[in-house]
Amino acid sequence: MKDSYGRTIDYLRFSVTDLCNLHCLYCMPKNGVKKKRHEDILRIEEIETIARAAASLGISKIRITGGEPLVRKGIEEIVRRVSALPGIQEVCLTTNGHFLQEKAEALAEAGLSRVNISLDALDASVYAKITGGGDLFKALSGIEAAIQAGLTPIKINCVLMKGVNEGEIERLAGLSEHAEVEVRFLELMPIATTSTWSQDHFLTANEAISKVPGNRASIDTIEPISHSFCSQCNRIRVTADGWLRPCLHSETEILLRGLSYDKLLEALKMGIRLKPQKHLLNRALPLIHTQDSRPMYAIGG
Ligand code: SAM
Ligand code: SF4
Repeated sequence: MKDSYGRTIDYLRFSVTDLCNLHCLYCMPKNGVKKKRHEDILRIEEIETIARAAASLGISKIRITGGEPLVRKGIEEIVRRVSALPGIQEVCLTTNGHFLQEKAEALAEAGLSRVNISLDALDASVYAKITGGGDLFKALSGIEAAIQAGLTPIKINCVLMKGVNEGEIERLAGLSEHAEVEVRFLELMPIATTSTWSQDHFLTANEAISKVPGNRASIDTIEPISHSFCSQCNRIRVTADGWLRPCLHSETEILLRGLSYDKLLEALKMGIRLKPQKHLLNRALPLIHTQDSRPMYAIGG
């Protein structure tokens, strides 16, 4: 389906949980996350129905994210159901990699095509500091397991933070020497937790790349700050509690829960039309609200 600006929307990022085993300093609030009630999180059947409706409107690629999607019970079943839907050509997942060693094979068997793995440092203590206690060895074993399971090519997402992981850039870039691995440097986004950070922490992708000697062929950059890519945006998002978020940076959300299938289709179409959101529609159904600064762990990146 095309949005109001002629862009084809074929990519859905689906958050399946707000919870995470890590506590990355640019993502989770310092004082912790208020845990949602179990019943507030979409059930597997609801995820499947929303994905089915989205696929019927032209979504062909789904990325499963979170929070940490691998802490969600039944993640393999979610992958299995979503990847079996008519029209869905690719199901991918973004993860911090800690549980991939146990789960990579089952996920591949369930129909997962590829994984993106977040890794912002190759020094164990810098990694632990950024992730609030994450285990670098587990993340690296996860990458290895994903390669073994054929969840390739693997994209390694590295968020750039001046004064935090600048010294890691060259070694992280070196991971791209592995044929199955592509390294992507992501500019830090000022969203919720990071919205109050000083400008001094922001490092552009260009600055990062300039630190990488030699062949940069399989290094990519995501530059929402220095280069807006809204004109090519092809995605919508669904949060773990069932709100359609047409744009990451707009706080407009549309409730997808509790709707008949026809209303669900209508809500999805409305969300696609609202991209990027400029006005609130004043209709009672589907329910629309603006959500105060939903943080990254609650949207899925
Ligand atoms: N837990 C999984 C992970 O870390 O890969 C998936 C969810 S995480 C919210 C998705 C992506 O968003 C990660 O690659 C993470 O690095 C990125 N992210 C989170 N907060 C960010 C921020 N403030 N700026 C840029 N990227 C951010
Ligand atoms: Fe968890 Fe991913 Fe956020 Fe880190 S970036 S706290 S791993 S959800």
